[in-house]
Amino acid sequence: MEYPEISWGKGVYLYDKEGNRYIDGASGAITANIGHGVDEIAEAMYEQAKKVSFVYRSQFTSEPAEKLAERLAEHAPGDLDWIFFVNSGSEATETALKVAIQYWQEKGRPSKKRVISRWMSYHGITMGALSMSGHSIRRSRFSSLLEQYPELSPPYCYRCAFTQNCPNCADDYAREFETAIQRLGPETIAAFVFEPVIGAAGGAVVPPDGYFEKMKKVCDKYDILMIADEVMTGIGRTGKMFAMEHWNVQPDIVALGKGMSAGYAPMAATIVSDRIIQTIESGSRVILSGHTFSANPQSAATCLAVMDYIENNHVVQNAKLQGSILMKGLKYLEQTYPLVGEARGLGMLCGLELVADQHTKEPFPLNLEVTNRLIQKCYEKGLIVYTAAGGINGHSGDAIIVAPPLTVKTEELQELLTILEEAIAELSHELSNEGFL
Ligand code: PMP
Repeated sequence: MEYPEISWGKGVYLYDKEGNRYIDGASGAITANIGHGVDEIAEAMYEQAKKVSFVYRSQFTSEPAEKLAERLAEHAPGDLDWIFFVNSGSEATETALKVAIQYWQEKGRPSKKRVISRWMSYHGITMGALSMSGHSIRRSRFSSLLEQYPELSPPYCYRCAFTQNCPNCADDYAREFETAIQRLGPETIAAFVFEPVIGAAGGAVVPPDGYFEKMKKVCDKYDILMIADEVMTGIGRTGKMFAMEHWNVQPDIVALGKGMSAGYAPMAATIVSDRIIQTIESGSRVILSGHTFSANPQSAATCLAVMDYIENNHVVQNAKLQGSILMKGLKYLEQTYPLVGEARGLGMLCGLELVADQHTKEPFPLNLEVTNRLIQKCYEKGLIVYTAAGGINGHSGDAIIVAPPLTVKTEELQELLTILEEAIAELSHELSNEGFL
C-alpha cells in the first residue's frame, strides 16, 4: 500500500499534500498523546536547539535530562525513582530485562536470568524485546533465534483460558503462573514482564479484577521482579499517569516510551526502584546498557515541555472523561453490529475485536484480512485506526485500537465514531454478501 504524504497536523487532525484531512484516531501508534502541531513544544525545541542539542551521556549530563528524570520520578508510583533514558520502547523493555538480570547477579543469584512473559503480548522488535513478546506472527521468522520467554495465558476474559471461573479467574491465572515457575525452577526466573493493558497484540485487553494483586503475591513468594511495560499505557493514556495505579500494585521496573515525548522526539525510559538501583550501585555500579542518543538534551527538553503541557492542560483528566464517552460510542457499535465481538479498554486506550459470529465468537479466516479491510475503509473516509491483528491467541485475531490524542474534544470523538460506524456498516454489508456474516 502507498502511504499518503502528510504535510502538517493540528490537534487531532493530519493533512496530506493533496489537502485531504484525517482524524488521528490512533495518535499514530498510540503516541501523539497531546495532538499535533502544539506551539509550546515547537518553541521549547527551538530554545533547546539554540543552547545545546547533544552531549554524550558518559561525558556530561544536562539540565533538561536532570529535570525530566526528576519530573518522571515525582509522578512514578512509590520508590520508582531512578531513570535510565533510551530512544524507543524496545530499548526500554530490553534495558529492563538487563537491569533485572544484573540485580540478581549482584545479589549473588546469577542463575536468575530469564524472564517469564505472556502470550498475546508485545514488548518490542529488537531480539531481547521480541524474545519477551508473545506475538506469534512477529516471532515466526526469527523463532529459532529467540528465547522462549512467553509461558503464560493472557488475562483475556473475552476468550478466557479459565472460562469456568471467569470473571473470578484471577486465582486461576496466578495458579498457572505458580505452576510454570515450579516447572522452570524459581532459581532461573529474574522477572515477570507484562503490559498492564494488552495493546498491539490484543487490542486494549484489560485484566480481570484482582489479577495484578494475585500475580504480585506469586512474584513475592518466589523472588521474581515485576516489570510493567507501560510503553503504550504510560503518561496518561489510561486516565492515570501510570496504568498500574489502577491496581495499586507497584512494579519494580517500568518501561516507558511513546507518550513520553508524545511523538515530538524519539525518547523512552526505564524506571527502576530504589531497592534495585541501590543493589546495583553497591556492586558493579553501572547499568550495562545505553545508546549514543540516550538522555540527549534535545529530546529531554521536548519531553519536559510535553510534561508541562500535560500538567497545565489537565490532559490526564481529559483522557479519563473523553475515554468514557468514546467507550459508550464503541459499546453502541458492539450492540448494533454483529461484526463487533467486543468493545473494550481503559481510559483512552480502547479497542474492538471483530468476529464472524457474535454468539460463538468464531473468528474470521485469516485470508479475509478483515482488520486490514476495516483500516483501509477508515483511511479512505479520513480516519486512522491502529491494527491489533495477528497477536491474539489461537486464531488470526482481528482487532483494532481506537486511541485518539488525550486532548480530543467531544465533538471530535463524535466525528470519529460516525466515520468508524460508516466503515463498519460497509464492511458488514460486504462480508455478509461474501457469505461470512
Ligand atoms: N512495548 C509496548 C507495550 C508497545 O506497545 C511497543 C510499541 N508498539 C513497544 C514496547 C516497542 O516500542 P518501540 O516501537 O518504540 O520500539
